[in-house]
Amino acid sequence: METVYFIAGDGIGPEVMTVAIKVIKEALKIHNFEKKIKWQELLAGEKAFQQTGSYLPEETLKILKQARFAVKGPLTTPIGKGFRSLNVTLRQTFDLYACIRPIRYFQGISSPVKHPEKVNMIIFRENTEDVYAGIEWPANSNEAKKIISFLEKEFQINLNPSAGIGLKPMTEQGSKRLIKKAIEYALIHNKKSITLVHKGNIMKYTEGAFRDWGYKLAKQEFSNSIITEQEAKQGKQGIILKDRIADAMFQEVLLRPEEYDVIATTNLNGDYLSDALAAQVGGLGIAPGVNMGDSLALYEPTHGTAPSIAGQDKANPCSMILSMAMMLEHMGFKQVAQHIEKAIEKTILQKTVTIDLASQMKEAKVVGCKEFGDRVIANLEQ
Ligand code: NAD
Repeated sequence: METVYFIAGDGIGPEVMTVAIKVIKEALKIHNFEKKIKWQELLAGEKAFQQTGSYLPEETLKILKQARFAVKGPLTTPIGKGFRSLNVTLRQTFDLYACIRPIRYFQGISSPVKHPEKVNMIIFRENTEDVYAGIEWPANSNEAKKIISFLEKEFQINLNPSAGIGLKPMTEQGSKRLIKKAIEYALIHNKKSITLVHKGNIMKYTEGAFRDWGYKLAKQEFSNSIITEQEAKQGKQGIILKDRIADAMFQEVLLRPEEYDVIATTNLNGDYLSDALAAQVGGLGIAPGVNMGDSLALYEPTHGTAPSIAGQDKANPCSMILSMAMMLEHMGFKQVAQHIEKAIEKTILQKTVTIDLASQMKEAKVVGCKEFGDRVIANLEQ
């Protein structure tokens, strides 16, 4: 038996978590796997603060250090008390370096693109480096001024002395471990290609290096299975590793989404690209995700705490349910995961959906978070 730890989260977190666990338990039961998973709650966020005086108690961190799988609802970052985001703290503490988001279309949902059914991609976004490392200094600060004067003296680089300064650290090890996860996924799932998305034309030694390290890794460790676009043209068989400049990639995913299935990219590009792609298939309410390291995989919806609808039974639980379905697949229950996805698809096709999706569909009936979950369960049972 495997223990799955769950953090209910803040805002709509507890609502979507309760519904999602109910759906997952029912699905496991139908497949006679209900005894394979034990669920255990861990405290974090507002609930933790109320009960323990800490937003991220030591006990939670201690248990997660030993854990392989956990699910998490969205967490609010406490404002104005010098707190770091709890999400960022969790990612850094457990070195969850890959943010993985599948983007698939569920029939019936209206989309801003002509052929959303062609969208079926998975994004691997580097989660620990790049401008997100948070190394920056405000304009006119002593630190920024010192750096500007150092650059002028040592490297004859003349910057405006009142500039704000930010750093973009990226490493070979950090890039390769992310790209390796994407390649391994492509191999296991028999995908056609992996695309490295970067801005190497402008930032040669960070973004360009990301691309180069990707090709180097493929040559060093996957030379039997991964080929370049050039080799594919010459008739060689294998999974193609290609690269695209980030701005061109935004056009590509709109115009030719069918040509891309696995994407590996840097932190900032990945942030933009994953939200833009989620919008093509119905928005954040339906987009699942996982933050993964080498020991822990933390499955979580891509949306936040949605405070304006919290406590009103209005939230869409799909993102949470689908994140857990990803976890089931990772745990070896692929059939159960596929069954859940089909039941969600069917529920959406029956046009009984939460308000966020109903507002994008014609003649849909609005149901609450709980009822949506019950309808998914009814469709699982048929
Ligand atoms: P948000 O995702 O909470 O909300 C954006 C919009 O989408 C809102 O209109 C909201 O009502 C709607 N929405 C989001 N999820 C929905 C769902 N499941 N069903 C229906 N509608 C949904 O983003 P935000 O407003 O920028 O952030 C609110 C809070 O959430 C902030 O405190 C932020 O720090 C936190 N946040 C946490 C995470 C996380 O824990 N991973 C991620 C993003 C934001």
